Amino acid sequence: MSKKINRRQALQIMGAGAAGLAGAGLWNRKQIIDFFDRDATVQGSEADGKVVTRLYPSNGAQVSLLGFGGMRFPTRLTASGKVIDEEISEKMIAYAYRHGVNYYDTAYFYHDGKSEAFMGNVLKQYPRNSFYLCDKMPTPVLKSLDQAKEIFQRQLETCQVQYFDNYLLHSLSSRDIFDELYVKGGILEYLHSEKEAGRIRCLGFSFHGDVPFFNYLMDNFAWDCVMIQLNYADWNDEGEQPDGSKQGGSLYRKAVEKNVPVFVMEPVKGGNLAQLSVPASAILKEENHDASAASWALRYVGSLPAVVTMLSGMSSIEQVIDNIHTMANFHPLSEKERRILARSMGKRTAETQINCTYCRYCDPCPYGVDIAGIFHVYNTQADRLGIDDGTASAEAKKEFLIRYQNEVNRSSRAGHCSGCNECLPRCPQHIAIPQQVQQVDALVRKLADETGKVVI
Ligand code: SF4
Ligand code: SF4
Repeated sequence: MSKKINRRQALQIMGAGAAGLAGAGLWNRKQIIDFFDRDATVQGSEADGKVVTRLYPSNGAQVSLLGFGGMRFPTRLTASGKVIDEEISEKMIAYAYRHGVNYYDTAYFYHDGKSEAFMGNVLKQYPRNSFYLCDKMPTPVLKSLDQAKEIFQRQLETCQVQYFDNYLLHSLSSRDIFDELYVKGGILEYLHSEKEAGRIRCLGFSFHGDVPFFNYLMDNFAWDCVMIQLNYADWNDEGEQPDGSKQGGSLYRKAVEKNVPVFVMEPVKGGNLAQLSVPASAILKEENHDASAASWALRYVGSLPAVVTMLSGMSSIEQVIDNIHTMANFHPLSEKERRILARSMGKRTAETQINCTYCRYCDPCPYGVDIAGIFHVYNTQADRLGIDDGTASAEAKKEFLIRYQNEVNRSSRAGHCSGCNECLPRCPQHIAIPQQVQQVDALVRKLADETGKVVI
């Protein structure tokens, strides 16, 4: 019989630094299901209470400050490839819903087009007026107004709803494409007509471009909301020039100036801020031993008053429990905590990490390269590998190679990159993917040589 673990024990385990309950082998599948089922029946006894809400001025709604992103559900391997693990994912959503999460986000591309249908199937169990659903027009595949109309109507059917609470122009990154498709092509006007008809309650866009393009959108068009990438690592202060992805402050301040409510993606930077280097983590642990690194990142974003909701693409039981615990007991960062976070930031290994958020927009690679998987293994090990100072131990090098071997299929490893550049324009973080992939490949070969480990 499996041993029952309650939420408090789960948080203690996480506070002790476990890499993940299931991942660390502490919970098996049955224990995960048991935890969620038990929570459903004893709600109130172990529950944290509900996630705090914020007013969404564009429609007067009280929206949970934590939203559930539909991009990174847990998956399982089948004969036809990776699919959403629907049993666990549904229980994660149910747990979130019970604990006050009322904002759910999906998109045409997520999970190879399966996220919308899955989200719709789960959410239809709840009263439509008890949750807010966001979907998006898939800009990268758009060609014409007729196609946009067809996609929008199909999205309503797939999600099994009569209307979307938020509907976004997905992933705007180029003014030329926006002007051509949405303005001259009439798609923006069409979406406004859907708003008039009540099938869109609030219209906005999600953004992956530069600051001048963002300012153009904000100065020349009316929006009910905007979704931007924002986290403490990507924030630039007033007067600090935006640089690469470090432009969150500029975008946020512009949205505030235009009175446009802000929805946030990547508050934990694709999970990178949940796994800090040992010295960076030690500084945070010294202040609060029980708080996860992710909780600091969420509280940083939640401390910004114009933020209505931050999305977390939760993919494991420990993330759901920890995030909900943080946001049910939310309090903004104090000045002292901000200083501590800044000190911890100084110890990050961002310069040795690849700026990947594991969104998988770059998939599929025609040569089968698992770009996000490769970058994830690299980023989680970069600190221990001592790329900067060559201080890595033989043990750390071997651990990197073992993880690379276990987590990236042989046919999907970096050595298969042909440098065709097909992935390049699809990356919202503007990462030089082929170069980075090839650098990881070179690193793997070098470490294999040094350690005598054969990577099979
Ligand atoms: S450049 Fe490399 S990783 Fe990118 S699509 Fe081509 S083969 Fe795949
Ligand atoms: S390389 Fe870019 S597109 Fe691919 S997963 Fe990372 S951030 Fe997303």
